[in-house]
Amino acid sequence: MAGAEWPAAGGKAWHPRRAFLLAAGAAAAGPGLAQVEVGEASRLRNLVPAGEIESASMQEYGRMLAQARQQRALAPDDYPALQRLRGISQRLIPLAPRWNDRARQWRWEINLIGSQQINAFCMPGGKIAFFTGLLDKLALTEDETAVVMGHEMAHALREHARARIAKTQGTGIGLSVLSQLLGLGQLGDLAANMGTQLLSLRFSRDDEVDADLVGLELAARGGYDPQASVTLWEKMSRASGDKTGPAFLSTHPTGPDRITRLRENVPKVQALYEQARGSR
Ligand SMILES: [Zn+2]
Repeated sequence: MAGAEWPAAGGKAWHPRRAFLLAAGAAAAGPGLAQVEVGEASRLRNLVPAGEIESASMQEYGRMLAQARQQRALAPDDYPALQRLRGISQRLIPLAPRWNDRARQWRWEINLIGSQQINAFCMPGGKIAFFTGLLDKLALTEDETAVVMGHEMAHALREHARARIAKTQGTGIGLSVLSQLLGLGQLGDLAANMGTQLLSLRFSRDDEVDADLVGLELAARGGYDPQASVTLWEKMSRASGDKTGPAFLSTHPTGPDRITRLRENVPKVQALYEQARGSR
């Protein structure tokens, strides 16, 4: 399919089953490495094996892509906006192990979905998707796009999904995962259940602060202007009346706190940005 033909139906028809906003991964690097101040990753996440979550999200991501492809809502490889997204990811992905050593083994994927929704996510294991609604309606610059990608990657790297599943399930899911590993049940069913749960996750306010700050540093280290985090969330704030569907904006409140905190943290990563900018 040629890039010019896409999206076939104006990208309006396709909607994912549910709004989603996901993430996860494994051991976080010590805060000593970072410029922004965030705590240790939640210990609760250890109740749920990272490998299980990653394989569940890989399946869910695969299902979503297949569904989108069927409806011609999946951008072809030569589509310019997708190529720009992949270009940004190539600068950010090599930095990921700084926050999560497990990310070295992730099979990262970046896709663009033709949909009016303002949405983007990075599932556990590095499965990223952007929706055209986010890029187009907000008219994101490359720096702003990199900040969104950094934010979503941070959810994955800091394993927020893993911790949330542990919190909602207590040790229940840990035990059932264990029974699967011991061959006491059907692994396929378990992965499907967990995938469904991944798609309905909402992160806590603390997770959002964490993703904002880690994402800010990630983007700066990749050579993207940290000041774009402020303009990004100002645009999000102006778009908050958009009723295209329950997506990014419903899970990402854009109050003045968020923008103030980012503005305060920009100077902490400014030197990293200036250093990295030369190689961009
Ligand atoms: Zn978020």
